[in-house]
Amino acid sequence: LLRLEDATVRFDGRPVLDAVELEVAEHEIVCVLGPSGSGKSTLLRVVSGLQPLDGGRVLLDGKDQGGVPAHKRGVGLMFQDHQLFPQRDVAGNVAFGPRMHGAAKDERAVRVRELLELVGLPGAARRRVGELSGGEQQRVALARALAPRPRLLMLDEPLGQLDRSLRERLVVELRELFGELGTTVLAVTHDQGEAFALADRVVVMRDGRIAQSGTPLEVWQRPVDEFVARFLGFDN
Ligand code: ATP
Ligand code: MG
Repeated sequence: LLRLEDATVRFDGRPVLDAVELEVAEHEIVCVLGPSGSGKSTLLRVVSGLQPLDGGRVLLDGKDQGGVPAHKRGVGLMFQDHQLFPQRDVAGNVAFGPRMHGAAKDERAVRVRELLELVGLPGAARRRVGELSGGEQQRVALARALAPRPRLLMLDEPLGQLDRSLRERLVVELRELFGELGTTVLAVTHDQGEAFALADRVVVMRDGRIAQSGTPLEVWQRPVDEFVARFLGFDN
């Protein structure tokens, strides 16, 4: 479904993504781990079309996405910093996605209700987003990303601000939901437990490169180098 070839992004001449090669198969759930600044968010932005490449290609279904604007790529992105509309209510935010506008009004309302239940905010539909806590806003952002049911969903630290018990519940329910909908997922997380519970495959990034890619078990049991071993050991 997704393929990055030699994907390179430079800021002030410094490579932030350095000739990245990555393939994500249909229905696969891939979690991206790596230290702060290693290029995880940049990777998602490149795929979504918000960050232009300085070299290489992004392909979706084998088609080069060069010049294809973000809203025409059919991919969903949940930002690390939410980017919700604080003055609108929760329902207005969740139903915002362009593809939600294509759905009938009744269906939109049902979907909003289902999603708010999923993220543990039933009854919050009419609350103003600016009044919610950080964790509540994060859950609204997650519901908004899920709402249009994109084939490829990219999540940047989707559960980062939530407490452990809610995170553990959501990971299980999300995995189930992605399976039901057949959603392909590329998710950044700093929580290894989350990655290992959610992912079919884990990608560890270092300085704009992919240090290792493999099933959670492979990466956990056989880190390719000292960096990965240390990163897995010291994180958490
Ligand atoms: P974190 O875990 O902290 O979210 P990350 O792995 O998501 O980190 P990125 O946001 O992809 O890291 O950033 C990678 C590097 O690129 C960082 O050194 C960052 O400072 C730099 N960078 C990102 N966006 C820009 C920009 N618009 N202009 C200049 N430098 C940038
Ligand atoms: Mg980031």
